[in-house]
Amino acid sequence: MRVVLADLRSSRGFVSKDTVVGGYGSRLDPFSRVTSVIAYLKKQFHDVPSVHMAYIAAILTRAGHDVVWTRDEVADGLEADVALVLSSLIDYRNETAWADRMRARGVKVGFVGITASKMPELFADHGDFILNGEPEAAVMRLAQGEVPRGITISEQINDLDALPFPRWDLVTEDRGKRFGIKWSSRPVGGGFPLLASRGCPEHCTYCPHRILAGYRARSIANIADELERLCDQVRRPYVIFRDPLFSEQRDRCVELCDEIQARGLTLTFEAETRLDRLDVELLDKLYDAGFRAMSFGVESLDPETLKKSGRRPIPQTHQREIIEHCRKKGIVTAAFYVLGFLQDDWNSIAATIDYATDLGSTFAQFKILTPYPGTPMFKQLEPRLTEGDWEKYDGYTPTFAHPNLTERELRFLLGAAYTRFYMRPSYLANFLKIQNTVVREWVSRMDRRVNARHTREEIAGFSRPVAC
Ligand code: SF4
Repeated sequence: MRVVLADLRSSRGFVSKDTVVGGYGSRLDPFSRVTSVIAYLKKQFHDVPSVHMAYIAAILTRAGHDVVWTRDEVADGLEADVALVLSSLIDYRNETAWADRMRARGVKVGFVGITASKMPELFADHGDFILNGEPEAAVMRLAQGEVPRGITISEQINDLDALPFPRWDLVTEDRGKRFGIKWSSRPVGGGFPLLASRGCPEHCTYCPHRILAGYRARSIANIADELERLCDQVRRPYVIFRDPLFSEQRDRCVELCDEIQARGLTLTFEAETRLDRLDVELLDKLYDAGFRAMSFGVESLDPETLKKSGRRPIPQTHQREIIEHCRKKGIVTAAFYVLGFLQDDWNSIAATIDYATDLGSTFAQFKILTPYPGTPMFKQLEPRLTEGDWEKYDGYTPTFAHPNLTERELRFLLGAAYTRFYMRPSYLANFLKIQNTVVREWVSRMDRRVNARHTREEIAGFSRPVAC
């Protein structure tokens, strides 16, 4: 059997799918000069291949099937028995149009991923089947010749060690294009995603990472085997752990670091986690094993707002201690913030933006609270939804009637957050890892002046009528 795996490129903005927003995906359509630069840089460094497609490729080829991978339009010579399309919310029209063209050629088309699982109505008329759940169990059956029909449950696999390792050679472009630059931990062209665990045991009500399947972790030996294989294939690979909560179990992290060092693996890696799942000793241990970058959610400054969204707040002192230690070690930090929780108003968002600049992570990502289908937050906000186009649930567009802020205010605050964070001298100083005390004091003074200028510009900008 010949199977096409389609992880389709989008034509607008910077789109990431697969493990981003639990698989619903995110689209940054630049809305200011700062976000244009960010979208450009993300294309260079963050356009990483789909780990789920790499798993599917491994399962199918292990059973002797041919796999063809594509990110593009339906090409003239593209023939297959079956096509599997990675679904997303933010680009589903492109994906369904592609599926329609393949079906017109007589190819059986199926959709995989959280969007097709939770919103089958968007895909049902464009495919022969939808795999509901993590795709691997149903793909194993497909590999045995059982082509699914309609909506097919794909059961969660509890023993993740039983899966073959992802086949990057089959689902990536030329990885030889990857090269490092001095100021970035990630090489140009991205790195190799790796799932050491799946799901998340936390209960943030807005988060799609926890709604498709439960939390499970692979054995340390199995993860290290995958890392070792990557090291055999690529010199000094850069590994992107895509677990929603990488350091959930401290002992496992320590064990993994020990294993990386015991096997003499030369690699660097990054991970996403919660700051309360890190401490200084663990960071040192991780650094010695190759840890060079991390992302984490701060979300909101206000602990009460976080608690109302099921998120356990993390003391500011701990956040600052971890970020400061990362700065000293040279670990790149990227903090995530969410603007527009139901309890938010102008002042609380302004305070969160101020905190973001003060915390001083290397990077920051600001998004507008988006109710994703299948989450408890979606149920809560469903009566307030104002946006009927699902592709606009991209993380940067207001989608519901906020009790305290208009759409225009939310968009304005989002733009202001990016400008205030990235257009300040201390951002550059953090990025360039400048530690000198005298220089840092001068930079702080300059920050205050730049901040005052942003305030003047924001007051002038917001008093002008702006079309929404
Ligand atoms: S900690 Fe919360 S936001 Fe982060 S992955 Fe887990 S549930 Fe989602």
